[in-house]
Amino acid sequence: MQPFNQSPPQLGNQYHEDRVLRSYLKRTIPGEMLKALEPEWQELGALSGGELYQMQLADRLNEPVLTQWDAWGNRIDHIEVTPLWQQAEKLAATFGIVAAAYDGHNGRYNRIDQFTRAYLFHPSTDVYTCPLAMTDGAARTLLKAGNQTLIKQAVPHLTSRDPATFWTSGQWMTEATGGSDVGRSETTARFENGTWRLYGRKWFTSATTSQIALTLARPQGNANGGKGLALFYVKLRDENGKLQQIEVARLKDKLGTRKVPTAELYLHGTPAIPVMELANGVRNMVPMLHLTRTWNSVTAVSFMRRGLALARDYAQKRIAFGANLSQKSLHLDTLATLQAEFEAAFMLSFFVVELIGKEEHGELTEEEGHLLRLLTSLNKLITGKQAVATASEVVESFGGAGYVEDTGLPLLLRDSQVLPIWEGTTNVLALDALRAIAKEEGEGLRILKAKTAQIAHTVQHPQLVTLAQNAVTAVNHAEQALMAAMAQGQPVVEAGARRFALTLGRAFELALLLEQAQWSLIHEKDSHFLAAANRFAAANINLIAPVNLTEAAALANDLPLPI
Ligand SMILES: Cc1cc2nc3c(=O)[nH]c(=O)nc-3n(C[C@H](O)[C@H](O)[C@H](O)COP(=O)(O)OP(=O)(O)OC[C@H]3O[C@@H](n4cnc5c(N)ncnc54)[C@H](O)[C@@H]3O)c2cc1C
Repeated sequence: MQPFNQSPPQLGNQYHEDRVLRSYLKRTIPGEMLKALEPEWQELGALSGGELYQMQLADRLNEPVLTQWDAWGNRIDHIEVTPLWQQAEKLAATFGIVAAAYDGHNGRYNRIDQFTRAYLFHPSTDVYTCPLAMTDGAARTLLKAGNQTLIKQAVPHLTSRDPATFWTSGQWMTEATGGSDVGRSETTARFENGTWRLYGRKWFTSATTSQIALTLARPQGNANGGKGLALFYVKLRDENGKLQQIEVARLKDKLGTRKVPTAELYLHGTPAIPVMELANGVRNMVPMLHLTRTWNSVTAVSFMRRGLALARDYAQKRIAFGANLSQKSLHLDTLATLQAEFEAAFMLSFFVVELIGKEEHGELTEEEGHLLRLLTSLNKLITGKQAVATASEVVESFGGAGYVEDTGLPLLLRDSQVLPIWEGTTNVLALDALRAIAKEEGEGLRILKAKTAQIAHTVQHPQLVTLAQNAVTAVNHAEQALMAAMAQGQPVVEAGARRFALTLGRAFELALLLEQAQWSLIHEKDSHFLAAANRFAAANINLIAPVNLTEAAALANDLPLPI
């Protein structure tokens, strides 16, 4: 007798099957534009669920290889990426996954178009979106900086749709001294014979295969701290393709993102061009960080959606206790909670995308500007966390198969785990959110409150009205907790920052989900989003808890706490 073999999960067209994405796009993009854009999304959806997904599975054991020396003793430091990444690079250019934001003809909707592409592309490429995020960030930073020489030199390449001329960019900030506190960076810049040259070590540089990088270094004589750093443009290779005084010490041996060649680099006098002034480098890099954080969030929701698509399909096939898992009420309940979490995260992520699109086309109001500044941190931190939690449940939903490497499933969890770390950890971004509020005298928080209240006033369905009150109450509670903490001093404010940020983020996700739900009730006669909002609202929106510094210190350090 043939032994039983379980049929594996499969994916269909990842655009066509994504009801959440399509409903969202229908709500936010004008009809004619939507019709014109859909064929390319369909094509990308077919590729992502088909050929590219199969290629990803086949590429599973491949990893980038660093060759430091050639046969004749020359230092070459060549990094060969895997076949999947080589293909992803070509596809990224052809499908305009960066370019669509720059050469599209849809005004402020260009960003929605571009991030829809990124969202569809990402989960079948083993995080090729990492270099794409930095490339997008570099293009935007150079354009904002207004350095015409660098704009002419690099931007046409960074935004090219031709694989032959397409460049990617790195973003080298983190040094061994710190990735959060980059003000401690040790890399120096010296002006030697008419050229700036960089000396130091960069501790985490993903995509060292890129053609250019934006990086930080301290011009000699500058003060310590972030303000003393300057933003530099580095062309990695000379005309002969040789690295310009850059030594690749090694590739990191990482938990996940193993296709991403993350290297430690030594700069031994690497020629560099100042992008702007010779100071305030951290501040001048902010446009890059804001975009890469948004990419982080879009890829987080993309991973969530991929995990759920696989889990859903598997539940139709896997039999336990006499029925498919998809007929087991508890299994369904588990997946439903994950789906609600994904839908809420999706709405926040793409709301931020909308704001960026408006900003780039001069349509952002002053109020929305404050909101965008605050949401950039909140969105990144909360969706990163949601992606990891969802990936963990997705893996479990496959039982033992989810833990077995050649199913391709463990990758989802490992690769998601980077999302709350790079581009700013959860704590660092929670503090950043507080800084954003303080710097703009509370405006960001005021606008977030106002937008939540506005949604609460506009939803009509009685259930949505009730749920909206949850969001309003949670935001108010978070604000009150912040006020109370401020009266007790900075350590109390900081200790509560993560709970404050997560509460604001979750409450706002709920509000945005309610907005979509109301629209869908009216225009699609569908209460699916209402059900998602109901479920999401029941899953801990308000995370505010009292802060007790003494208890926290005793617990964190595992010390006795005398009564
Ligand atoms: C796979 C991968 C690829 C990467 N690629 C790049 C790259 O291409 N370019 C690049 O520049 N960097 C890159 N990084 C580095 C990444 O951005 C940093 O690791 C990250 O910013 C954290 O910095 P750190 O490692 O120095 O941790 P630390 O800053 O030492 O943080 C350690 C812990 O302390 C917490 N913490 C820090 N400050 C505070 C505070 N004030 N209050 C409370 N808690 C705090 C953090 O939340 C964290 O949990 C990459 C990292 C990874 C994992």
